[in-house]
Amino acid sequence: MRTRAELTNGTWKVHGQKIWTSYARESDYGILLARTDPESKRQQGITCFAFPMQQAEGRLEIRPIRQMDGRATFNEVFFDGAEVPDDHVIGEVGGGWAVAITTLMNERTNLSTGLGTLWGDGPTLADLVSLARGTELTPMQRQKVANLHIVSEAIRLTAYRMLSTNGTAASVTKLAADRWGQQVNELALELLGMDGLVMDDRGWQRAFLFAPALTIGGGTTEVQKNILAQRVLGLPRER
Ligand SMILES: Cc1cc2nc3c(=O)[nH]c(=O)nc-3n(C[C@H](O)[C@H](O)[C@H](O)COP(=O)(O)OP(=O)(O)OC[C@H]3O[C@@H](n4cnc5c(N)ncnc54)[C@H](O)[C@@H]3O)c2cc1C
Repeated sequence: MRTRAELTNGTWKVHGQKIWTSYARESDYGILLARTDPESKRQQGITCFAFPMQQAEGRLEIRPIRQMDGRATFNEVFFDGAEVPDDHVIGEVGGGWAVAITTLMNERTNLSTGLGTLWGDGPTLADLVSLARGTELTPMQRQKVANLHIVSEAIRLTAYRMLSTNGTAASVTKLAADRWGQQVNELALELLGMDGLVMDDRGWQRAFLFAPALTIGGGTTEVQKNILAQRVLGLPRER
């Protein structure tokens, strides 16, 4: 991590950049991780801040990134002397990595609940079922709908169980729910047939185009599998 923050007279000044910042243009605050000990390496010497997105002219630039679903919820953010008051530090100075891990675990648990197919947003399984009811289904398609319902129940109940267990299990629901979200959207497009080629108010086309992001954002599928293997199953680290 090369974005850095230096403390002068009770104010941290931030220099650096960060890509893939969701909703940076709509937010009042962002979660900022910056290196506050220039001599430190890797996860050491990083501090977490509640970063005010309203900054004086020229100190913060937010460049939107156009996505293939037509929206621009992502941004690249450039810090050029952006200011954060010292009392906006979250946790200990230099202890930002622990804050980041806790935040990510909460993000994974909250996003991947098996409700809306796009991290709680977008079309739902109920929308797919109502689409399926109005479509002449092949036997395979009927089985796919039933299977998606079964998986959705398993994800929902696992998410409840995780409320009282250790946070690393968040990787379980994230792994299951994100692929499930993609499968719901893939099946919807299959059922729409030629209608699936044109954007309409039902939102399936846009959801289908966003769905590949599910297994990347909040930590990729491969990284979740590593966490699950090492921290939940106790398998040896990969070489
Ligand atoms: C919709 C969406 C919203 C996002 N919002 C935000 C946001 O608000 N703030 C923010 O900071 N970031 C955000 N991100 C970024 C996201 O967290 C990263 O894209 C994600 O963690 C992957 O990191 P990376 O892009 O650096 O890919 P990399 O880590 O470079 O991964 C590239 C590929 O290598 C694989 N890989 C990496 N390490 C390993 C390993 N050890 N073993 C096996 N395979 C591996 C990955 O699985 C992937 O396929 C968002 C991303 C998406 C898609």
